[in-house]
Amino acid sequence: MDNHATTRVDERVLAVMLPYFCEHYGNSSLTMHRYARRAESAVDGARLQVAKIIGATKDEIFFTGTATESINLAIKGAAFANKNHGEHIITSMAEHKAVLNSCQSLEKQGFKVTYLKPESDGRILPEKVFTAITDRTILVTLMLANNENGVIHDVKTIGKELSKRKILFHIDAVQGVGKIPFDVTSSHSDYVSLSAHKMYGPKGVAALFIRKNPNTLMEPLTDGGGQEQGIRSGTHNVSGIVGFGEACRIAQEEMPEESQRLLNLRESLHQKIISQLDGVFLNGPLENRLPGNLNMSFAEIEGDVLLASLIEIAVSSGSACSAGNQNSSHVLRAQGVPDDLAKAAIRFGLGRYNTQEEVDFAAQLVIRHVKRLRQFSAF
Ligand code: PLP
Repeated sequence: MDNHATTRVDERVLAVMLPYFCEHYGNSSLTMHRYARRAESAVDGARLQVAKIIGATKDEIFFTGTATESINLAIKGAAFANKNHGEHIITSMAEHKAVLNSCQSLEKQGFKVTYLKPESDGRILPEKVFTAITDRTILVTLMLANNENGVIHDVKTIGKELSKRKILFHIDAVQGVGKIPFDVTSSHSDYVSLSAHKMYGPKGVAALFIRKNPNTLMEPLTDGGGQEQGIRSGTHNVSGIVGFGEACRIAQEEMPEESQRLLNLRESLHQKIISQLDGVFLNGPLENRLPGNLNMSFAEIEGDVLLASLIEIAVSSGSACSAGNQNSSHVLRAQGVPDDLAKAAIRFGLGRYNTQEEVDFAAQLVIRHVKRLRQFSAF
């Protein structure tokens, strides 16, 4: 139940990947023999599948190794390439560390960054973005959906205004693509980061969309053999890319049905817990939320003690990506959740392989342990 951290590889994805390890193992960047051509055509096919899920064209998709790399490339690459036009970047305090730390690294190099504070339900109001704009703003970077509180941002309204003002827009769409409808046209995005392992594809492969447009300048961060139109050099992870393509195809085809199923599971889990426990606070909104996401804080409980009690289920207390971080979640703190409640937050990320039986089991477990711990609570 921790599918925001990562997902199990779909067996259909694994099946299309396997021949690219020992059989079709050519280097897709060289096209002089049939091994290479076979690999190249597989990468090409996958590029089309990845492009399709966000409504892009093939030549706008650049394969990378991780979403973190895509995000670094988008933010730093766009900032370096546009530094003659301005040095101001806008983001939010609730972004993933890949975004926040890329921005902090740019600040050390003279860029100025505005970190917007989200509302108490996690939303970023589009007006707040617009009022932060100055005549030196070159880039806005925001996420499509938050990995902790599940909030889905109004990227369409934000993107429309930014495109009018000719300000570049990067969307970290890692948690949203494949789960909720999203496309690069209606969001007016210039750069979009996405990742295979959050959507039942393999780890170690991700992509960056870069709009084909004279304004979307990009300075590469990796020099080498000139793969990916010179933007991201390095031999392709062919099997991974093929798996990523298949993961996109499946997600696109099954999204309507799958998101409804996850929503039903999520609501069932939430209802069961709040019908039996008081002092449960939902972190994030009820509406406009990723279908599989539920993030709750429990009053009068030590969060780490609760998590340690729930050993039979895999859930998270915050962002798995801030590895080893013992502080309360920066996302929950940013939206004003008091420290004791932020520390007592549990994040469920329901996914493709979770069942109603598992949800019933998890609900009972949480209810039992919260009641038990409250009996001994020092609060
Ligand atoms: N952006 C978001 C919203 C995420 O949830 C994550 C990972 O959890 C990332 C970026 C970074 O992805 P990765 O660690 O796979 O590079």
